[in-house]
Amino acid sequence: MRDFSLDIYRELLETLQKQGYELISYAEFLKSQQPTANSQKRIILRHDVDARPQNSLQTAQIEHSLGAKATYYFRVGKESNDPQIIKAIARLGHEIGYHYEDMSLCGGDIDAAWSHFQTWLEYFRQYYAVETVCMHGAPTSRYDSKDLWKKYDYKTLGIIGEPYRDTDFSDVFYLTDTGRCWDGYKVSVRDKIPQYQDEWTRQGLTWHTTQALIEAIKANKLPDHVMITTHPQRWTNNSTQWYKELILQNIKNIIKRLIAKS
Ligand SMILES: [Zn+2]
Repeated sequence: MRDFSLDIYRELLETLQKQGYELISYAEFLKSQQPTANSQKRIILRHDVDARPQNSLQTAQIEHSLGAKATYYFRVGKESNDPQIIKAIARLGHEIGYHYEDMSLCGGDIDAAWSHFQTWLEYFRQYYAVETVCMHGAPTSRYDSKDLWKKYDYKTLGIIGEPYRDTDFSDVFYLTDTGRCWDGYKVSVRDKIPQYQDEWTRQGLTWHTTQALIEAIKANKLPDHVMITTHPQRWTNNSTQWYKELILQNIKNIIKRLIAKS
């Protein structure tokens, strides 16, 4: 089976469910952190809708058919922000969140970025009662959008969590498809969990392909609490799109490696 296809995505989710994992959204995870819930096996399904929102509707439908819930983070730009898709994904019972990049969009002006953040949060709240927001990494931008929180606090706007800031990564293992593989955090500029990733690597919790990850899940090697981040634009059964994403990502990985080294 081809990696990064919708078929293998479905197999990944089905394997997790067979091994007793509950597949939930980030808001659900934050709201259910009682000791009993902590003993359960749970996966936070997080999707960063960086581009091609139509692909996100497809992963959302697969999840819905399996009784799973996920969180979809949308950006403000046309490449991501498609109201029809946002509404359709919300109707399937998934969580919608804001994939913010206000610091980069406002050229590092923190006050302008805060005002921009509030405007766009209100925009997304037309479609869904947004409770969580998540940084867009923007590897080529000079600005880290998380710097907005050096001065302002999203909790004053009723936001209950931001994955990079409100997740206890001593309890929650992190997996991301950044770099179009499962071990690409080394070349990632911002999508990383610095204190823990080296330790996870030492424990052998690192896999390159989705098939290798599936085998590890079957062998019970995955921790009980995991956040899995995917970018649905790269998961497709369409051959033309699949090859385009493969080639584009190879080029991006070379550039990111150069940035990470500098
Ligand atoms: Zn992103």
